[in-house]
Amino acid sequence: MIATINPATGETVQTFDPATAEEIESAIALAAARAKTYRTTTFAQRAEWMRAVADLLEAEADDVAAMMTLEMGKTLSAAKGEALKCAKGFRFYAEHAEAMLADEATDPAAVDASAAYARYQPLGVVLAVMPWNFPLWQAVRFAAPALMAGNVGLLKHASNVPQSALYLADLIRRGGFPDGCFQTLLIPSGAVESVLRDPRVAAATLTGSEPAGRSVAAIAGDEVKHTVLELGGSDPFVVMPSADIDAAVKTAVTARVQNNGQSCIAAKRFIVHTDVYDEFATKFVDAMAALTVGNPTDPSTDIGPLATEQGRVDVEELVADATANGAQILCGGTRLDGPGWYYPATVVSEITPSAKMYTEEVFGPVAGLYRAADIDEAIEIANATSFGLGSNAWTTDDAEIDRFIADLEAGGVFVNGMTVSYPELPFGGVRRSGTGRELSAHGIREFCNIKTVWIG
Ligand code: NDP
Repeated sequence: MIATINPATGETVQTFDPATAEEIESAIALAAARAKTYRTTTFAQRAEWMRAVADLLEAEADDVAAMMTLEMGKTLSAAKGEALKCAKGFRFYAEHAEAMLADEATDPAAVDASAAYARYQPLGVVLAVMPWNFPLWQAVRFAAPALMAGNVGLLKHASNVPQSALYLADLIRRGGFPDGCFQTLLIPSGAVESVLRDPRVAAATLTGSEPAGRSVAAIAGDEVKHTVLELGGSDPFVVMPSADIDAAVKTAVTARVQNNGQSCIAAKRFIVHTDVYDEFATKFVDAMAALTVGNPTDPSTDIGPLATEQGRVDVEELVADATANGAQILCGGTRLDGPGWYYPATVVSEITPSAKMYTEEVFGPVAGLYRAADIDEAIEIANATSFGLGSNAWTTDDAEIDRFIADLEAGGVFVNGMTVSYPELPFGGVRRSGTGRELSAHGIREFCNIKTVWIG
């Protein structure tokens, strides 16, 4: 069902009819026709539309925030922050895209030419399959660079955030982008295959779970189409004895419970050197237990409901499996009574390798606490999952910093801080966390034909 269901109450607010086969066909036809003309627009023109989009979004941020909170339960302040971050993302690419995509000359003499360079050209129609956890930002971090590069987008958003999906397409159109530059298709996941196989669709990007990524990548591979995949993560957060423990605890709490614990780059496994384990554990559990769980529209709330009923069941099952395999619950661990899909901030320790939590992602406010004898064991535990998205290390020792940068198997390492996605920095993972990169110059070039130009 494509519907807005309020996670704070469980109430179905609005349902939406999925697009018919005819509507899907006309959307793809419009996108394909638009791609042919849109690619000839100038960077200056695209940037002007981008800035208009950012202006509108900033002006509408309060309403947009309320819509996101209604659809997936993040706190209103987090939702407003997300809307403003999206506006900044549009502005960033408006300003920098042209330089990022400038011709890259090589020494012509070395290749027996009078001129030789690489030129970045748009691929055309790109399908974006996006998740509900950051209903705007996940889609904008694709849309802003893709549009600036001269591509057009078709958005298949998660079925529980249809209003956010429709809003984004409307926003981009109102900013001045011609019809067909960015369209939302209200379709279930089962309808993705035929869109992706359509010869008029050039490439795809997906953010979401590993099964969804594998399915889309398999179809795209069969069609020889490029994909960018941003899948799950179970990011480590390593704390060494030289760290500022109070600062580490404060950041650890934010890193785990941001977005009600539903972020791919949330720190999920807290791996603490034995010399500071007890101090960190005591302070961390106290801080997690003190968080307020409740109505996401209440300004005093730290953690709202989980976005879906199934999401809460998944979290409960992982915690139950951990305790059945010997883990201890240090705080939280039991769903809240009453309507809405609330789950408290939870800390689990003594997680054994036989527990699913040891290797799987927990998509809710549940922290796993691990003790490490030394840096070797800390890195071993950190790398003991099949994921490799972000990673965090807390230490003031230069040799340890070098070691973490060298040996944490992840797409990013954040030292004495938490993993955040910035438009200025590449974002993505290794191993089962995905392929390719979003954001920065690397992200905008993913959906470009890097055309070799050689002139004799
Ligand atoms: P999904 O991966 O199922 O959903 C993400 C997007 O992919 C949605 O648009 C969904 O559509 C679509 N989708 C799902 N299956 C397919 C498929 N086979 N082919 C094409 N598209 C598909 O995530 P869930 O919402 O079910 O969450 C499950 C788990 O995924 C979470 O617990 C978490 O571990 C991970 N996840 C990771 C995210 C991240 O940021 N990396 C974000 C969200 C989830 P539809 O909604 O219509 O099913």
